[in-house]
Amino acid sequence: MLTLLKGIQNRFPTVHIAAVSICGVILSITLLLLPSAEVSATKDTSLTTERPTQNAVQKELIEQSAERIHNDLVLNISGSESAFTPLVPAANKNTTQIKATLPTNNPTISTYETPDENWVSYTVQKNDNLTSLFLRAGLNATDVYNISQATLEGKELNQIYPGEALAFLIEGSVLKKLKYEVNPLRTIVIQLLGSDYVVNAIERTPDTHERYIEGVINNSLFVDAEHAGLSNNMIMRFAAIFGWDVDFSQGIRQGDRFRVIYNEQFLDGKKIKDGHIVAAQFVNNGETFTAIRYTDSDGSSRYYTPDGHSMRKAFLRMPVDFARISSGFNLSRKHPVLNRIRAHKGVDYAASTGTPIKASGDGKIIWKGTKGGYGRAIIIQHGSNITTLYAHMSKYNSKLQQGSRVKQGQVIGYVGKSGLATGPHLHYEFRVNGAHKNPMTVKFPQASPVAKRELVAFQAVSDQMQAQLETYSTIKYARAE
Ligand SMILES: [Zn+2]
Repeated sequence: MLTLLKGIQNRFPTVHIAAVSICGVILSITLLLLPSAEVSATKDTSLTTERPTQNAVQKELIEQSAERIHNDLVLNISGSESAFTPLVPAANKNTTQIKATLPTNNPTISTYETPDENWVSYTVQKNDNLTSLFLRAGLNATDVYNISQATLEGKELNQIYPGEALAFLIEGSVLKKLKYEVNPLRTIVIQLLGSDYVVNAIERTPDTHERYIEGVINNSLFVDAEHAGLSNNMIMRFAAIFGWDVDFSQGIRQGDRFRVIYNEQFLDGKKIKDGHIVAAQFVNNGETFTAIRYTDSDGSSRYYTPDGHSMRKAFLRMPVDFARISSGFNLSRKHPVLNRIRAHKGVDYAASTGTPIKASGDGKIIWKGTKGGYGRAIIIQHGSNITTLYAHMSKYNSKLQQGSRVKQGQVIGYVGKSGLATGPHLHYEFRVNGAHKNPMTVKFPQASPVAKRELVAFQAVSDQMQAQLETYSTIKYARAE
């Protein structure tokens, strides 16, 4: 029921545990994407000297994007999405970029300024505040007061950071206009109208371009997708979408193929960031997996198979049938054997010895063996951020080893009382990003299919996106036999 690890974690403050968890996630994703050392060594020894540097750079890039990916993909996906737009046929090359025909309605700063105006811009320095910046611009305390009053309610100037700039239009000694670019999509303009300062926020809509990238696996998803032009961030997103079905560390083959259509956001012709993957496909060992992003009428977006099933897998709420909960998830429980307060970070299911224990979700066995107080235990990795643990087994399913893929509901072992247990039961843990969750109440990753009322709309999107994937495809893939 307990491990040393749990004891150690208990002594760390929460923040530290969160940091450790994120590191764990990054590590597991890194392992997913990097080619194994063994393969690299046999393939190309000349790369040996370069590889550590390359891996370090990759790792750093992965670290930068890992947390964002988790917010965006591994947890529930929500947010609004622009409508899909018809696309022109792809040009005949590997990487195709198509400008979407979305109308853009961008109010610009020019509404508020004319070419002959004499704006002066001041960059916020470390230790600057509004007053110091205003004084540098030749203004006085009254101006600071007036602007502060004007922005009191909206708090538009409450947070200015070093490196940002405030632009002033001063005529005589009167501050006529003030401009603050919060980010490329949002600018605050304050202008004197009569005797009052009026605050306006100017929001801009980026142009969305769709981009298509495809490629063939020769080495690893990371290496080959990067070579094809996908950013590290997009590779992470791609892997997260297919991670439930495809084992990117062990299960991919030379000749596997990927295709992805994703959005890029541009402003004034300059790319500001990657948007979402709207459709993607991975052909793994002859089996084709396709993911379509669909935003339902509630505004939440998820990835589905072309016929509307979730790309994600549900979990079984209980990994044993006909069992009763003998001890629930409890962070201040008195341990029955150790007789002191020790968090119980799982659920105990009392059942007779030999009762089958089932994998609660599809995944891969990452631990099979005796593990301290857990006794005979199995840990299964599901996707990139969830693990489940099954402890105190009397025996394992002898066909399974560390590294085996298991299907939801597959028997992985049998109830027992190995390790620190008073009687036969299954101790079951559910961790998300390394943090223990109550398996009885944790919100499982979305696995529902497209809602019935959405099916018609979804099918239209799905058909269109599948057609686009086909239209864009330009590689005549050599079969890897
Ligand atoms: Zn327990």
